[in-house]
Amino acid sequence: MCKTHVLSVSAAKAPFEKTTIERRQLRPDDVSIDIKFSGICHSDIHSTHGDWAGGIFPMVPGHEIAGIVKDVGGKVTKFAVGDRVGVGCYVDSCGECEYCLRGEEQHCTKGVVATYNSLDYDGNPTYGGYGQNIVVTERFVVHIPDRMELDVASPLLCAGITTYSPLKRWKAGPGKKVAILGMGGLGHVAIQFARAMGAEVSVLSRAKDKKNEALSFGADHYFSTIDTETFNMLTGRFDLILNTVSAPIDVDGYLSLLRVDGTLINVGAPAEPSQYNVFSLIMSRRSIAGSLVGGLLETQEMLDFAAAHGIKPQIEVIRADQVDEAYERILRSDVRYRFVIDISTL
Ligand code: NAP
Ligand code: ZN
Repeated sequence: MCKTHVLSVSAAKAPFEKTTIERRQLRPDDVSIDIKFSGICHSDIHSTHGDWAGGIFPMVPGHEIAGIVKDVGGKVTKFAVGDRVGVGCYVDSCGECEYCLRGEEQHCTKGVVATYNSLDYDGNPTYGGYGQNIVVTERFVVHIPDRMELDVASPLLCAGITTYSPLKRWKAGPGKKVAILGMGGLGHVAIQFARAMGAEVSVLSRAKDKKNEALSFGADHYFSTIDTETFNMLTGRFDLILNTVSAPIDVDGYLSLLRVDGTLINVGAPAEPSQYNVFSLIMSRRSIAGSLVGGLLETQEMLDFAAAHGIKPQIEVIRADQVDEAYERILRSDVRYRFVIDISTL
């Protein structure tokens, strides 16, 4: 066992405090990682605030982890001490079911083990990346490409794969009109991926003052959803809308912006249920879909794609004692566009 310093919350909505936890002794297929940077995802706020059912406290959030390999177990083949690596939303799965075998570990039938707020297969709670070290089975570790800085890479471990995976699956590409709804942590990297895949990209945001940044990320068009005229103007326009909003949306309103056969893909995960009128689907054969992060092979593919296309999260690096304040700022949408904790300040 190895003691490590972490940031944890003792109960829903409690402030962060510096504590220590024990990481397990290295198993033969384990990698021990010294964490350098940890991104803050809105899911960390949903989880620590108890928005979603079943919070396990004390909780150490963090599933956008970038660091350096400190030690490896005897059977590890893909990693060596000193490698630059990342860990995302999951740390284990059965490895044998239909979904694991096709590289979709997030849908493991035994139940995928989340990086935090989850129970490991040995029954112990998992603790995430707001800390100095983590021990993870090598199947759930990815290589960070050489030309990518660790701080910039960290948000890709969740925000990157969560947007890359559905954009690829629903074939965002040449000839497709794609709208990215919500321009926060996920949204601003989704713009970059959709553009690199060759789609015509529009941004739908409440903000009036993010247009220039949206265009700099590669958007072709920017529309403020505060203007009701936007909805009249864009009726029937898009093949895909990727919804990254952390709060409930007007589902019928956004469905009306889809062409025949268009799809509204939800990755934003508010706790409240959605409502829609079924005629919004029937009349134009539209679909509503959801997507959960992505598998490990696809995560490595996404990192390599991002490096090849110069895709970079725009980050604000913060100290460990600024996390509570960062959460408040995210809730006010006052973030451009991802906070990343410098773990050396812990
Ligand atoms: P974020 O940085 O806070 O961005 C969310 C964006 O949603 C905001 O920037 C804002 O965009 C918009 N928004 C926020 N509150 C709103 C409201 N009340 N009404 C309308 N728009 C609002 O969050 P994130 O880290 O990108 O995460 C977004 C969501 O995705 C969260 O719910 C998170 O839990 C979820 N998520 C899901 C998965 C998955 O696997 N499906 C993975 C990761 C995260 P504008 O200001 O531009 O309007
Ligand atoms: Zn996340």
